[in-house]
Amino acid sequence: MFSFFKAGQIECLQSSLLARCAFLTHAFCTRRGGVSQGDYKSLNMSFKEGDEDNHVLQNWGRLAAAFDISLEQFLVVNQVHKDDIFIVKPYGGYFSSRAELDYDAIITNRADLAICVKTADCVPVFIVDRAKKVIAAVHAGWRGSALGISAKAVRLLRANYGSSPQDMLAAIGPSIGPCCYQVDKVVADEFLNLHNHELFLSTGKKAGKWTLNLAEANRRQLVESGIGEANIDVSDLCTVCNQDRFFSHRGSGGITGRQINFLIIKRDDSYQVMTEDGPISRH
Ligand SMILES: [Zn+2]
Repeated sequence: MFSFFKAGQIECLQSSLLARCAFLTHAFCTRRGGVSQGDYKSLNMSFKEGDEDNHVLQNWGRLAAAFDISLEQFLVVNQVHKDDIFIVKPYGGYFSSRAELDYDAIITNRADLAICVKTADCVPVFIVDRAKKVIAAVHAGWRGSALGISAKAVRLLRANYGSSPQDMLAAIGPSIGPCCYQVDKVVADEFLNLHNHELFLSTGKKAGKWTLNLAEANRRQLVESGIGEANIDVSDLCTVCNQDRFFSHRGSGGITGRQINFLIIKRDDSYQVMTEDGPISRH
């Protein structure tokens, strides 16, 4: 179940499933609580959509202050509507240039790194291995969804961390709903070959149009990857229907901001590093 909460001035949503994980902080932020004006009102977190940089920076400052996370701890990738996934190792530098970060999902077991997904209709998907303490943040637009990016994230968790789907929880945040998502043949064709596509793709009211349920398409990928249905939380909020709360690319006609969705593994203060001289505390 999803519920609203306030962090500082920012209005956010959280999943009750993920909220039960004590080692995590997560939020699906709304557009409320920032300083941007006009089409970007108010918590626009993207520098790439035409908003004033100074306002976006202030918004990031508000987010950082609200959750007591420093700005340097937020990792945002470029999001290019493909299915490449960035795996961040627990220690050491993780990028040589931010310009090279053309990915649509991030996986890490590193503490103190807030992995982010920007959205304005696309689906933000969080996956958590609560046993091994590994997290994934996925940006799933129609292209990424058609490529199976949520299923791929589960595969990479299994392959790289030995994660078991039985230990995984997932939360699917607000996105464009089937109420508002009519697509044409070019988009529909990408989904018609997928297993069980009739569960999330149906013929539309107009000829040559289909209705696509992107959140359900991603939920099916998670279920078919072995995550229990009871372990997947889905927000039923549509970004187009709720533009007072969320940025919507389609609903706005294209000029709008981006809301941020993030999750982070809290530092375990009891964690110790073994050295030749014995254990030392890391904090
Ligand atoms: Zn809608």
